[in-house]
Amino acid sequence: MSPDDFRRHGHEVIDWIADYYSRIESFPVLSQVKPGEVRSSLSPHAPVQGEPFAAMLKDVEEKILPGITHWQSPKFYAFFPGNASGPGILGDLLSSGLGVQGMLWATSPACTELETLVLDWLVPALRLPEKFLSTNTGGGVIQDTASSATLCATLAARERTTNFASNREGCRGKLVAYTSSQAHSSVEKAIQIAGIGRENLRLIEVDEKFAMKSAALAAAIDKDKQAGLTPFFVCATVGTTSSNAIDPVLQIGEICRRENMWLHVDAAMSGTAAMCPEFRHIHNGVELADSYCFNPHKWMFTNFDCDCFYVADRKALIQTLSVLPEYLKNKATESGAVIDYRDWQIPLGRRFRSLKLWFVLRYYGIEGLQFHIREHVRIAQQFAEWVCGDERFEIAAPAPLNLVCFRLRAGDWANQKLMDALNRSGELYLTHTKLDSKLTLRLCVGQTNTTARHVENAWKRIKAEADHIR
Ligand code: PLP
Repeated sequence: MSPDDFRRHGHEVIDWIADYYSRIESFPVLSQVKPGEVRSSLSPHAPVQGEPFAAMLKDVEEKILPGITHWQSPKFYAFFPGNASGPGILGDLLSSGLGVQGMLWATSPACTELETLVLDWLVPALRLPEKFLSTNTGGGVIQDTASSATLCATLAARERTTNFASNREGCRGKLVAYTSSQAHSSVEKAIQIAGIGRENLRLIEVDEKFAMKSAALAAAIDKDKQAGLTPFFVCATVGTTSSNAIDPVLQIGEICRRENMWLHVDAAMSGTAAMCPEFRHIHNGVELADSYCFNPHKWMFTNFDCDCFYVADRKALIQTLSVLPEYLKNKATESGAVIDYRDWQIPLGRRFRSLKLWFVLRYYGIEGLQFHIREHVRIAQQFAEWVCGDERFEIAAPAPLNLVCFRLRAGDWANQKLMDALNRSGELYLTHTKLDSKLTLRLCVGQTNTTARHVENAWKRIKAEADHIR
């Protein structure tokens, strides 16, 4: 494809994306296709001869679009959001255009230095502790996902506790990790991948707000120590996936400092709220953490994938993940004056992800981001009030930010029917969880373009569908 052809088709693609956003509300939010339908509509073989670009774009419109669940629809309330924005998309496009692989500083200095800068910008913006700054003992790095961040934290904790000898036969000891029963499944996955053993992960009980009981954590640690085990890692959550519960990070942090354990704080979605001073209390105690992550790809308008992972002591992370073969050696690395982010993550290669985050921060500014975050929280709180005012429904958990957990009092069967009907309607998409063993619906306000009008319509629809539940 020549530069001129690229320009022409590029304009067509940008036009297509812009039109997509203009008409996004006309699509059923949850794709209504059956399993296999998309595949069977496409050619079973790769083309032998190249095809015209127009044919590809036509197939996107006619065959791919029906199989899309519209995460960027303002009527998307499922899971946690995976939101996006114009500046984020364009930053990502530039990253694709540059086609940089930034494994080492030397393989594109701007890729590394912009990432370090933007992650430093976010430390004061989210009131994170100064030890997370690259100019201090720590630093930030963009991971693909929170799952990878938690895995890196687990590995660094394992190495620090075993004096970087866990891979030597007989040097591992019996390590034990802790998280709450409400933590994301990625913690369990990290423990498995790190070879700690699923049986050595304790799921600590939660209080009536679904937040970890710090006294129960302390008791579990004592019990394990008495049994000759080595407690090494705690993952606290700021904004659990099921109900947005916020673990008492300060108390948990004090326990970790006393016991010399690694504390990782997973604030995957809710961390973004700390952009606003009135929500910064969610980060109380993070100053005691060894590592922290949040996902701009969830609620900070930066399209997937983008997780910001911070460590207080970068040396521990680098020593854990660094393996230096001959073919990667270079003068800049040897000088010790640069960051090589390959040593801060599992894969070697990495994309130029900071461009999209930089574009988002520059385009909106802190005040612009605060405006949208506040609006989302305000609208979610309004929705919670409407639910409270309808005696058929109950609120199932506190709603500190933009997630509302609610259910019909009639029981699981009624809630399942209601959710199925709503999602079938195409007018909105929400998902469920179980709280107190009861099927509970979750409505999370976080797509970039969701406004009060959308949530008002969602509530009307929910009430109307509830009228038909028998
Ligand atoms: N942690 C929490 C609290 C989450 O809610 C999620 C996903 O929703 C994750 C981790 C996993 O996110 P990722 O897809 O970035 O790995």
